[in-house]
Amino acid sequence: MDSSFLLSTINPVIGLLLTLTFFLIWRKHPEKLHILNWALGFAAGSIGFGFEFFHFFIANFRFENGVNTLLPLSILFSVRGVCLRYRGHSPDSALLFLVTATTAIAFGMSGGHHYAHLRGLAISCGMAIMMILAMHAMTRAKNWNRIDLCTFLVFSSLAVLLSLRPLASFLMEGAANADTLEVTSFWVVSLKIAGLYAWVVFAILFLLRIAADILNELHEEMVTDSLSGILNRRGFFETASRVIREANPRLPVSLLLLDIDHFKQVNDTYGHQAGDAVIRGVAGVMLEHSPETAVIGRLGGEEFAILIPLSSSRASLAFAEAMRMKIQAQSHPEIHTDYPVTVSIGVAEGKGRALDELMRDADLALYKAKNWGRNQVSVGGEAFRDHAAQIPGQRVRAFS
Ligand code: GH3
Ligand code: MG
Ligand code: MG
Repeated sequence: MDSSFLLSTINPVIGLLLTLTFFLIWRKHPEKLHILNWALGFAAGSIGFGFEFFHFFIANFRFENGVNTLLPLSILFSVRGVCLRYRGHSPDSALLFLVTATTAIAFGMSGGHHYAHLRGLAISCGMAIMMILAMHAMTRAKNWNRIDLCTFLVFSSLAVLLSLRPLASFLMEGAANADTLEVTSFWVVSLKIAGLYAWVVFAILFLLRIAADILNELHEEMVTDSLSGILNRRGFFETASRVIREANPRLPVSLLLLDIDHFKQVNDTYGHQAGDAVIRGVAGVMLEHSPETAVIGRLGGEEFAILIPLSSSRASLAFAEAMRMKIQAQSHPEIHTDYPVTVSIGVAEGKGRALDELMRDADLALYKAKNWGRNQVSVGGEAFRDHAAQIPGQRVRAFS
């Protein structure tokens, strides 16, 4: 049996299987429209290669126009998916223009009297430009990993290979038109083989991308506090440990532990929902007024932590006092205006110290701040006495 015939059966079937796979994944994540576009890309490609297959059974029918339309459409959807995934939007007018232009040129050149290579070159160039648009969208995205790098490299090599195929065929088989090219010619076989390789590679890369995205989202959920939107206990410890590990041990790191004062009364007087709103409000103040490098988390209940790398003892005390005042000044519409929401803050600071040690010191300092009457900042160690005395507001105390 003709090997080209066998080859023609592989692409439509693999394309349909991939369409189904991506379609089923999209059904589980309907908000991820890039996955639907990838499914449509495989669908258009598999129908396109299906036309090639029927070419064997129904002679004298110009299936080439179907292929010429569906293969660029397949690239359009795949590129659209990449643009949506990496950039959030896709250059639809440019893509539509490219597909329309290449299809129009291909239709114009179809028929026996035109060279197949010229037509192929026009379509290949159109598809290569679409791939360049995908690569451009990828360069705008942050946090690349190896999957993205591989996808970028595959797009760039495919764009080059696609444009070289008509030239290679022309050199090997001379000027030929669609009718004179054998089904076993390099022209026909290389298209099917290239399609097959590209599909398998892209399917693997796209599936890896989807899996990595889902794992990242799950991890994000695992480390985020659903009430306040900041890091939860697990997320705080994970991120803070990493920041401390990566920090220069000769430079200071500060840790603040904050606990809302008499929070139980808020719940008892105004209800649990009002208490939740207060927690959200306090987390919002911390987010708004902390430096960009700070790691902010809710450790549980009404207790929060802020880790600040590269913060001197004087700066961390001043920051803690400023934070205390901001939280005190914040109004909470959910509770009575006369009821002030305040926090007590324990501060620890040091160079090259483990998170556990900082936590222990900050916890002791917080305990002192509570004992001394709440709504104040406290820090352990003689060295802080002078700094504490210099902070305006007089609610900062150092103990030895
Ligand atoms: P202190 O000044 O000593 O910190 O007193 P407190 O009342 O703030 O501390 P206590 O530990 O006695 O009470 C904390 C309260 O926080 C008890 C608990 O019901 C409440 N709480 C814990 N988690 C949540 C939450 O997610 N939402 C709300 N609304 N309340 C919470
Ligand atoms: Mg409390
Ligand atoms: Mg507490």
